[in-house]
Amino acid sequence: MSKVKVATMWFSGCAGCHMSLLDIDEVLIDLAGRIEFCNSPVTDLKVFPEDGVDVTLIEGAVANEEHLHLVKEARAKSKILISMGDCAVTGNVPGLRNGLSPDKMIEDIYGKDTTTNGELPYDVVPHLLDRVRPVHEVVPVEYFLHGCPPPAGVIAKAILALLDGKEPELVGEDLKFG
Ligand code: SF4
Repeated sequence: MSKVKVATMWFSGCAGCHMSLLDIDEVLIDLAGRIEFCNSPVTDLKVFPEDGVDVTLIEGAVANEEHLHLVKEARAKSKILISMGDCAVTGNVPGLRNGLSPDKMIEDIYGKDTTTNGELPYDVVPHLLDRVRPVHEVVPVEYFLHGCPPPAGVIAKAILALLDGKEPELVGEDLKFG
C-alpha cells in the first residue's frame, strides 16, 4: 500500500503546534507505517516534492514575503491544506502587530543596532507584509484545527480520520474527527 504524503510548515508562530504534533506519542508509530513525512521543520527535507503531497499542515500566520511565496506553493502542491493552531486560523499573537508600520518596526529594531551599523538586513530578512494574515485569507484551506496549540489528541484524530477517508463532521463551531 502506498503511503500518504504529508508535509508540515512553520510560518509566524512559536513552534508550539509542532510540539503538540510530536506529542501524539504512540500514534506516531501507527502513522509511521501509513504516511511519508515530506517537507517539514521536523525532518531534513526542506523543499516541497515536485509532484506534490496529499496533506499539508500549516502552523503560524502569513507575516512576510517568504511565507506568502511558500503558502502559495503549498496550496498549489497539496490536495488538502489544514490550518493548525490559532496563529494559522486567526492570526493570533503575531497579528498583534497589525496596525503598526512594518518598515518603522524594522528600522526601530535594526537601524539603531550598532552590530549592524544601522544597515537594514533585507538581504537576509524577508520584507514584512503590511498585515499579518491567517492562512485562509491568502489561500483556500480545507480544515481548521483550533487551539493554542491544538491538543495532540485532536491533531492525531484529524490525521487518522483523513487517512481512513472519513469526512470530519461540524459540531457547533468545531470539527469533530472520527
Ligand atoms: Fe504557538 Fe499557539 Fe501560535 Fe501554535 S497557535 S504557533 S502554540 S502561539
